[in-house]
Amino acid sequence: MSALSVAIADGVAVVTFDLPGEPVNKFSKAVIADFVAVFDRLERDSSVVGAVLISGKPDTFIAGADIDQFLEFTSAADAAAQSAEGHRLMDRLEHGRVPWVAAINGACLGGGLEASLACAYRIAGDSPKTMLALPEVQLGLIPGAGGTQRLPRTVGLQVALDMILTGKNVRARKALQSGLVDEMVHPSILREVAVRRARELGTGALARTRERKSDAKGALLENNPVGRAVVFRQAREMTLKKSRGHYPALLAALEAVGAGFHGSVADGFAVEARLFGEMAFTAVSKQLIFLFYATTALKKDAGVAADVVPAKIGRIGILGTGFMGAGIAAVSAMQGVSVRFKDTTHAAVGKGLLAVRDVLKDRLSKKQVTRQQFEDQLSLVSGTVDYTGFSNIPLLIEAVFEDLAVKHAVLRQAEEVLPPGAIFATNTSTIPIHKVAAASRDASRVVGMHFFSPVHKMPLLEVIVTPQTAPDVVATTVAFGRKLGKTVIVVNDAPGFYVNRILAPYINEAGTLLDEGVRIEAIDTAMLDYGFPVGPVTLLDEVGLDVAGKSGGVMAAAFGDRLQPSATLGKVLAAGRLGRKGKRGFYLYDEKGKKGGVDESVYALMPTGTTRVAGNTAEIQERLSLAMVNEAVRCVEEGILRAPRDGDIGAVFGIGFPPFRGGPLRVVDTIGAAELVRRLEALNAKHPGRFEPAKLLRDMAQSNKTFYPTTGKPV
Ligand code: NAD
Repeated sequence: MSALSVAIADGVAVVTFDLPGEPVNKFSKAVIADFVAVFDRLERDSSVVGAVLISGKPDTFIAGADIDQFLEFTSAADAAAQSAEGHRLMDRLEHGRVPWVAAINGACLGGGLEASLACAYRIAGDSPKTMLALPEVQLGLIPGAGGTQRLPRTVGLQVALDMILTGKNVRARKALQSGLVDEMVHPSILREVAVRRARELGTGALARTRERKSDAKGALLENNPVGRAVVFRQAREMTLKKSRGHYPALLAALEAVGAGFHGSVADGFAVEARLFGEMAFTAVSKQLIFLFYATTALKKDAGVAADVVPAKIGRIGILGTGFMGAGIAAVSAMQGVSVRFKDTTHAAVGKGLLAVRDVLKDRLSKKQVTRQQFEDQLSLVSGTVDYTGFSNIPLLIEAVFEDLAVKHAVLRQAEEVLPPGAIFATNTSTIPIHKVAAASRDASRVVGMHFFSPVHKMPLLEVIVTPQTAPDVVATTVAFGRKLGKTVIVVNDAPGFYVNRILAPYINEAGTLLDEGVRIEAIDTAMLDYGFPVGPVTLLDEVGLDVAGKSGGVMAAAFGDRLQPSATLGKVLAAGRLGRKGKRGFYLYDEKGKKGGVDESVYALMPTGTTRVAGNTAEIQERLSLAMVNEAVRCVEEGILRAPRDGDIGAVFGIGFPPFRGGPLRVVDTIGAAELVRRLEALNAKHPGRFEPAKLLRDMAQSNKTFYPTTGKPV
């Protein structure tokens, strides 16, 4: 069955793309064949003067290429040949007898945008669902169907590079401003207007808009070779600085765009095809494509057996209007959830409501919401100092002080007022969930919802279940977390849960290096170079040394010497340094809390005093990364994780584990279990007790096993 249906009326062919049996439209070999058939038909039918490409799916125009097909490439040359095939298709769209209009409503990504760019005219539906992007670099690839060539010619070099190098989404209004689309209309008249424009193009009443449009300043800079060279050089420098050289596709994309300016049009396309092929065979792309599959699979995973139906949650209660409570309230209101917000004093509630307002206001300032939407969202949050308004709350999230007695007190109070069957979710970061649940009348309704701070920015949510937690409670909290836009992993109850558990040995190892006299910058820079977004010592300052100290204490109590916090951390904390929030930590902070250089006076607090050693980058990276990797393996071994997939996603989304490495368990597969055991043993000989290889790792080494399949789909 063809993915394309053609309806011809009054000289205009409306071609509807509606891939059978799939939620979104994607390009595949079969779809390309369907397009070729339509092109052939329209070439022959002289009654047709223009054509419209429109989607039959509600929220997507075209989501891009079918990624499954990328797994089938046999070599870089094969991938390049597929790209060239895409070029031929887009070429027919652009240069065929009949001019095409792209009628874009919903997601228009990758190959979808490339096809639109090959059309003579583009119209966007004015809907929040309309998003245009070339996200290929997020998979370690570059646009392979002409995007690196046609986009700069349409919107100018600077806008194009920004889109291609980040993969970011562009909304309809912005797309109109930059000339990415020619017109924006209400979705209800999209088809009608598109048909009219196709006819006008066909009869010559409307000219094709191939010419690049961009603002005068940008255009002036780009129109001469010297100006272009400046733009390219700046883009290259910025890219290298941001990516630390870990993402080859960024440089490849720059090269492909550059080729379109320096040589002939054909050269540009040839370079794009070649580099697309090369990128498809990089280790980076392999890991990023793994993460794509892993997140897609996770989204479909209810966290429990699929037949458990989650309750729909439209109203929640939050206890504690502090830092975390306010963050959770804000993201809930953004999704139209009404929030009953409780603290112990009016002052605290007022402060919490202001914090919610600040988060929501930020989105208004960035024009991500209208003033009306902002007002509506704000009005969803109401505050109280007693339990009025809690009798119809199906889900209560507790974010009071990190103190078991306080948590027990609020749990007991809440159970007096909540309706039967209500869920009590605790946002504790260190207290085992079963200990919180011990005070409950019904432990089956108690679950952990571990958000990360700042809640509106951090993408991960850990849902923590105890053996008592009821399946519907898990399903409902997972579904609710997803409604808030979070990537949700379900983990079993154990000290540190998953994310803080693997963070502990990593942070401890950084502290031990400080104990040994290694310079702060050496440690942070080594881990930035490894690919983390912030160094571990900076992270300590960010999280707060008191919070880290508390968490470290819990881990040491649970796991003994293996997870003993460093002497340095204890001493720095004892000196009253709390990190950024106290404007005193390992780094200097100004009045506004902006970070400066290392606070040299902190060294006097350390065991080796002010005597410092440089530290070896490779050794620092090996010690910190393998401590985390080994701990992640233990989490699989102990059944804390339900699947390696969740461990990798949790690390990437929860602590910024370098995505191009795929995650700590992917690192095991990359290095190989046997080699990893060897490296850990070598470290353990030098630092006894901290690097004993996990039992599972030894088993895997012996049986030559990997966490993931080595061929076919990665998860
Ligand atoms: P916070 O001190 O900013 O807020 C706690 C709030 O709880 C305060 O407003 C306090 O007045 C209120 N409170 C105390 N007793 C109460 C009671 N009996 N009834 C109602 N409200 C009461 O703390 P926070 O950073 O928001 O942390 C809250 C919880 O979230 C803690 O369990 C913490 O471990 C956890 N957590 C924190 C982070 C983080 O980065 N801050 C991350 C994940 C989880």
